Amino acid sequence: MSNGRKPYIAGNWKMNLDRARALDLIKTIKGRLGDGSNREVAVFPPSVYLADVAAVAQGSPLGVGGQNIYFEQEGSFTGEISPRMLREVGADRTLIGHSERRHIFGEPDEWMGRKVRLALDGDILPVYCIGETLDERKANRTDRVIKRQLEAGMADVRDSDLRRVTIAYEPVWAIGTGEVASLKQVADAHATIRKWLASHFDKEAAEPVRLLYGGSVSPDNARALFGLEDVDGVLVGGASLKPDTFIPIIEADI
Ligand code: PEP
Repeated sequence: MSNGRKPYIAGNWKMNLDRARALDLIKTIKGRLGDGSNREVAVFPPSVYLADVAAVAQGSPLGVGGQNIYFEQEGSFTGEISPRMLREVGADRTLIGHSERRHIFGEPDEWMGRKVRLALDGDILPVYCIGETLDERKANRTDRVIKRQLEAGMADVRDSDLRRVTIAYEPVWAIGTGEVASLKQVADAHATIRKWLASHFDKEAAEPVRLLYGGSVSPDNARALFGLEDVDGVLVGGASLKPDTFIPIIEADI
């Protein structure tokens, strides 16, 4: 990390916790956060708890986001939520293209550009998640997959939007497995993403885009990850569910 981009630590709670534990957790994080001037911290609770969690976070620098959106603002899309709905309950950001959405729920690349665009249009900050499967890595296709996912998700993004866009590199094989990518694998993937951004957008406009690493981040490996030049933060799943593990990650770069 270097380069003037504010470190970003994001906690994806997935389909975990219950209302009481979610509120306890957000209160504890809020109490430890400080004024937020030296880092950005956000949590992504299950959507049914968003309004309550956002109400606790209100007035603090904590960000609160959805784990997914659909690419329409309203309509007959049972089970889905839109950027406008997220905004209305106090969320200011969303994950898009998380590997569990892609690989468990079959969300295709073709949806990603529309989701990122609708988020931006709805004043919701997208964290666009990309990453290769183990088979793709073994077949030496990591770069190709990353670029394909970038092409899809960033298709309708303009230079002037880039300040609001975050990209999370999350190798599928490292998510929830305890197997963290090696520092070299992370550095190589992030360098690929940076280079792709610089060649598809105005170089200066692409500078503020933050690149997060996700995949079994823990208090044990966070500091080394933050030490990599192109890692501007982390997206944390399992370790974001407890203050004992999430707070040391938030504070790892201090
Ligand atoms: C994630 O949910 O994006 C994630 C990286 O999970 P974990 O930290 O548990 O691997």
